Amino acid sequence: MSDHLMNTYARLPVQFKKGKGAILKDKQGINYLDALSGIAVCSLGHSHPAISEAICKQSQKILHTSNLYQIGKQRKLAEKLFKLSGMERVFFCNSGAEANETAIKIARKFANDQGITHPKIIVMENSFHGRTLATLSATGNDKVHAGFSPLVEGFVRVPFDNVEAIKDLQDDKDIVAILVEPIQGEGGVHVPQKGYLKSLREICDQNNWLLMCDEIQTGIGRTGKWFAHQHCDITPDVMTLAKALGNGVPIGACLAAGKAANVLAPGNHGTTFGGNPLACAAALAVIDVLTIHNHIDLVAKKGDILLQRFKDELEGIEGVVDIRGRGYMIGIQLNRNCGDLVIQALEKRLLINVTRGDTVRLLPTFVMSQEQTDELVTTLTQLIKDFLKA
Ligand SMILES: *Cc1c(COP(=O)(O)O)cnc(C)c1O
Repeated sequence: MSDHLMNTYARLPVQFKKGKGAILKDKQGINYLDALSGIAVCSLGHSHPAISEAICKQSQKILHTSNLYQIGKQRKLAEKLFKLSGMERVFFCNSGAEANETAIKIARKFANDQGITHPKIIVMENSFHGRTLATLSATGNDKVHAGFSPLVEGFVRVPFDNVEAIKDLQDDKDIVAILVEPIQGEGGVHVPQKGYLKSLREICDQNNWLLMCDEIQTGIGRTGKWFAHQHCDITPDVMTLAKALGNGVPIGACLAAGKAANVLAPGNHGTTFGGNPLACAAALAVIDVLTIHNHIDLVAKKGDILLQRFKDELEGIEGVVDIRGRGYMIGIQLNRNCGDLVIQALEKRLLINVTRGDTVRLLPTFVMSQEQTDELVTTLTQLIKDFLKA
């Protein structure tokens, strides 16, 4: 291993050379079942033939021209996203953090245009929005903040899934937006109560605030709808996407509708790489495959079954606090830190993640077979039972 990489990750002692569907193969040729999908990125699994083909074909035509010129694939992708979400305009970038930076800039410009010079955005405790200065400041996690003061100002924090805490802020004329994950991911897979997003929508409408949904983890089918806010029958003013949009080719997007759609004008924002032909070709292929094979409805159904299977196996077992999730986004919270489970699973050739210290997080590929699903349930529930007994 190189000593020249910045020490930003405590990496696991394994390197994958190849992948196919839900399986990753390491240097020794050993197969692992991937129940994490590169953190909700490779939803269609590894080396999906249609995605590979789209990337390959595009690379033989043109990779990059910059946003100084028309990019046909960008327009096509924008059109598809509009049809799926109702969001009217989109800015393409390269990552989730950049998509959220764009959202934050829209909120600030929206405020400045109204003469509000010190705007504030409501953000949630336990949230995650990225690692750039503005997005880490928006993030509700002291560990992410530590060492990076002064943080970017203009964020007001309230508890997640608490409408009253937001209502209490309605008299503050500097508030212009709410930034919220429809289901918190890094924060431990927290699904809010039914009606939460709808209430936020109403409060935003009453106060002329923007409702900004961070769907970077929940979007593109992960929860069994194209976008998680669609479970709640609302449309946000701003929505951010990234992770699964390119199935591994980096692409992010900030979408806007209604009063947020035309806030940014030439000169307000930009990106060299964002939305280049290669990234857009990959994303178009992702949307096609998801549509043609009806993956998202299947994820809704298979996700319910998978969650129930974990409940059947684990509920009532001493040390299991909660089993929750939606679609293929599942969290199993234990009553103690369980980071060691990641290594123990790796030894059993299973890739999982633990977030917030005590919550096993599963983000399987949509293409996981029935047999692989059985293997995931059997291996993981046994590991958890043994872990809690030890
Ligand atoms: C991963 C994630 C981000 C950050 O995305 P990057 O591509 O790592 O910058 C932001 N918000 C949420 C909800 C995420 O899950």
